[in-house]
Amino acid sequence: MDLREKIRNIPDFPHQGVQFKDITTLLKDGKAFRVAIDRLAYHYRDKQINVVVGPEARGFAIGAPLAYVLGSGFVPIRKPGKLPAEIISQTYSLEYGQDALEIHKDAIEPDSRVLIADDLLATGGTTLATVKMIEELGGKVVGLAFLIELLFLNGRTKLDGYVINSLVQY
Ligand code: 5GP
Repeated sequence: MDLREKIRNIPDFPHQGVQFKDITTLLKDGKAFRVAIDRLAYHYRDKQINVVVGPEARGFAIGAPLAYVLGSGFVPIRKPGKLPAEIISQTYSLEYGQDALEIHKDAIEPDSRVLIADDLLATGGTTLATVKMIEELGGKVVGLAFLIELLFLNGRTKLDGYVINSLVQY
């Protein structure tokens, strides 16, 4: 199945000049959704992943089913103020200004094998902030999995040394 056909392009969203890749058209198609999760899971079937970590919000839609298929746990990364227990946080830069992400302090066991999953790799800022938090908590980042990779934004250079898998590239 060609998953690229299931992704909708929305010009000028959320700002002028951005070609937004809308994955809701893929997610609502049961066959495409299953194929996407199964293809990602295949790469990690022998990697003894203890937990899949997914950033809010589209990282939940990819990370949670991936964790289920792999028989791993799932850990959410959230925007500030959403997690109820003790957290650590990491700031990262956006096009204009900064934002932060948070994870529960007890979410990652020391030496656990972690897969980070999100819908899309763009500049790599979100993923790098996630990597830093996992490593600060003593986890080992075994892989980075994405439905989509925007090659022209060079997220890979920021994530040098980590193994990246993406299903559809632009
Ligand atoms: P980065 O931090 O790599 O620059 O951006 C990736 C994050 O922004 C991901 O969490 C992703 O959900 C979101 N994102 C950025 N651009 C797009 C896009 O075109 N489509 C979708 N679905 N998400 C995007």
